Amino acid sequence: MGSQALFTAPLQERQPLASRLLLAAAERGALANAYLFTGPSRSDKWELALQLAAALNCTRESSTLSTGRSSCVSQACPPEQCCVNCRWIANGEHPQAWHLLKREPDKTKIAVEKARLLCEEILKSSAYFRVIVVTEAEQSVFHDASANALLKSIEEPGARCLFVLFAGHADMVLPTIVSRCQVLEVSGAYPTGFLWNDDDASEEARQALETHRRQFIREFPSVVESAITLKAGSIKYVLESRSIAERLAKLTEEYGLSPAMVIDAYVSADFECLKVPACDHGGARRYLNRLLSVAETAKQELDHYVKLNNVVETFAYSVAELRSHFSGELRLAISS
Ligand SMILES: [Zn+2]
Repeated sequence: MGSQALFTAPLQERQPLASRLLLAAAERGALANAYLFTGPSRSDKWELALQLAAALNCTRESSTLSTGRSSCVSQACPPEQCCVNCRWIANGEHPQAWHLLKREPDKTKIAVEKARLLCEEILKSSAYFRVIVVTEAEQSVFHDASANALLKSIEEPGARCLFVLFAGHADMVLPTIVSRCQVLEVSGAYPTGFLWNDDDASEEARQALETHRRQFIREFPSVVESAITLKAGSIKYVLESRSIAERLAKLTEEYGLSPAMVIDAYVSADFECLKVPACDHGGARRYLNRLLSVAETAKQELDHYVKLNNVVETFAYSVAELRSHFSGELRLAISS
């Protein structure tokens, strides 16, 4: 994953799902024209939007969004080495490329005039890729008129515009707006990160891990099929998750790999299979998000005291349950 540098490494670690899905979309030239970032972490939403704006406008020679290469911001260049666009965007004050729509601090709602002006402004052509950030997209901050103006802009955006809306939860946003956005959950941070290939493991161990990961990737479609037919709690279901647990435990024992790394490698196989379909399928995104939480819980248990075998067994069982729960949506996502 070394070349994937649309976002800074710390942000990728904290937001493995959102950063990977945005990167996958950018690489295919298939960014949505409006995203709704949900979840608790305001600062990570801001960072994602900001770094996306930098990548869309960076003028460094080697930076092109289509190949997922980095911007000055994602490479954490010191300000004096950044291109002008990145320097402005990093400060959140690029007059053309970075637009904020928010209420005044002493007001409960966004001023209608402000929404109208912005929506007119972005209809004009521009040399820049405009990122329009609505830091509170909850229904409560909109008068009908400003909601309608925004809605119309999202529906018929000017050229080179990207809307990024923030909200705690999609339920708090007008359904008409939600339906025009791609909803992306920006989670609370994953404290241990997601770094299956970043460890002091020996070359041999890494290769073994990669071989297994490839195998997990190949097996994924049949795993989804069997999740559809197997009843959660049935004997076969338990046996199947136990066999996954055994494979994971064996990998750590035979090659001296850290269990956290093995768990992440397993999770990354599902990411690999779903990163493109998840751009269009909310069910696949929700599955990946829950999968990350399950992995995070397992890694925290390992940090505490729990025995390896118990942890991987619980982990494998939780993953099997998740797949069973989302099986219909996963099948739809990978078959499209
Ligand atoms: Zn730049």
